[in-house]
Amino acid sequence: MIRPLLLLFILSCPVFAQTTQEKVRDYRRANEQKLLLEYFEFLSLPNIASDVQNIRRNATRIMEMMKLRGLEPRLLEAETPNAPPAVYAEWKTPGAQRTLLFYAHYDGQPTDPKQWTRTLPWEPVFRTAAIEAGGQIVSDTGPPVSDPMNPEWRIYARSASDDKAGVMAILTAFAALRAKGVALNANVKFFFEGEEEAGSPHLGEIIRKHKDLLAADAWIICDGPVHQSGRKQVVFGARGDTNVDVTVYAAKRPLHSGHYGNWSPNPAMMLARLLASMKDDDGRVTIDGWYADAEPLGQAELRAIAEAPKYDEELKKQLGLKRVEGGGKSLMELINIPSLNINGFGSGDIGALARNVIPTTATAVLDLRLVKGNDQHRQTQRLIDHIKKQGYHVMDREPTDAERAQYPLIARVNVRPGGYNAERTRMDLPISVAVIEAVQSTTPDKIVLLPTSGGSLPLSIITENLRTVTLSVPIANYDNNQHAENENLRLQNLWDGIETFAALMTIK
Ligand SMILES: [Zn+2]
Repeated sequence: MIRPLLLLFILSCPVFAQTTQEKVRDYRRANEQKLLLEYFEFLSLPNIASDVQNIRRNATRIMEMMKLRGLEPRLLEAETPNAPPAVYAEWKTPGAQRTLLFYAHYDGQPTDPKQWTRTLPWEPVFRTAAIEAGGQIVSDTGPPVSDPMNPEWRIYARSASDDKAGVMAILTAFAALRAKGVALNANVKFFFEGEEEAGSPHLGEIIRKHKDLLAADAWIICDGPVHQSGRKQVVFGARGDTNVDVTVYAAKRPLHSGHYGNWSPNPAMMLARLLASMKDDDGRVTIDGWYADAEPLGQAELRAIAEAPKYDEELKKQLGLKRVEGGGKSLMELINIPSLNINGFGSGDIGALARNVIPTTATAVLDLRLVKGNDQHRQTQRLIDHIKKQGYHVMDREPTDAERAQYPLIARVNVRPGGYNAERTRMDLPISVAVIEAVQSTTPDKIVLLPTSGGSLPLSIITENLRTVTLSVPIANYDNNQHAENENLRLQNLWDGIETFAALMTIK
């Protein structure tokens, strides 16, 4: 019930007293065409982290976008030559009690242009809807002029969602606040990384080199999708990740499967058996100690999971899955325990090159997702110990003839560089509560609070080098095809993202 006095106050408020959100929305509506032109140009720059020349063109473009918004950007270089630079700027607010750093990354995953449907990764186009929903290409060149734009349209381009959308939303939120004369309440820093998709190999170097610049009460990260239900969410942690190559060896040269089958061991079968020994039928990892270090969730986290929208059944329908793993636990619960995935498996040939042969080796790439409490080295050691337990001699290079003669089973195991541990910020910290309130203030729908995201982020590199916490506020549509062909961003998600980040920049 509204008390009469309060009602009087509400009614007496002048009609022009806009909320910050309304001001930001006005700014966006007035500038849609300009913003989209800017965004399309940005998306036209190829942005694979290893593409030294193009990645610098992206960094330069971001500096130009920052200058347009009244910022004085600079590049933060790693010690390692030719590493992608981070782009940095800051905005000091007199009397501010807090410093917030906003993070996004401007590099994207490599992609095969041939796998895209009628468009190319770095030639952004609008479609009227998702391809899966019959979305048609609107025009082949630049953003079409229709004012306002249909917010259900999608931009198809590499990094449209992951994660140039983050750069765009953050910088536009700042521009809108400045243009509308809304005061920021915190010192604001901007940090855009150029090699997140490559595993952030130099992020630690850059942070250590520029520790003072990058100090903040919190790093607020804009990366990844909103909840599958379409609701906004705040994510308090991310799984860690480490990848391992496992190769098993059979005869030194490929053998005729008729002449030698039944006698010479088949490496694909050996590896299949080895991998099958790592998990039970319900997907639970059977490697000793796999779940031992996982830090249990607190009360606030358990409550958040219980209150989250139930979406697994809908997701199963969409994905064509009758059966899922995890013994009846929800996807959200299962993300909070460590996993073991086969990213790829290769031995011999299939398709047109298939032939009657016993291959010489079989290789799998394993993906170990880690949670708070896990240590990447401890976890990979558990994997290695398990392989040894299955009778394998484990080494980190090709076996010699002498070693082949000595050991009946040989596995080569190589941990790929660039792995990192998981991180999770407590939901009941004052900064966590403030961020939750800010995001909630932008939407009537109850926002989703996720203790840990499914995807990984190098958060531990940040918290291990700086005394700060990290919180992620993703904005992309969940069906954005990130990392795959036909990556896309629903326009309304970008618009909502701008308002979300404006609210975060004006946290009380
Ligand atoms: Zn990303």
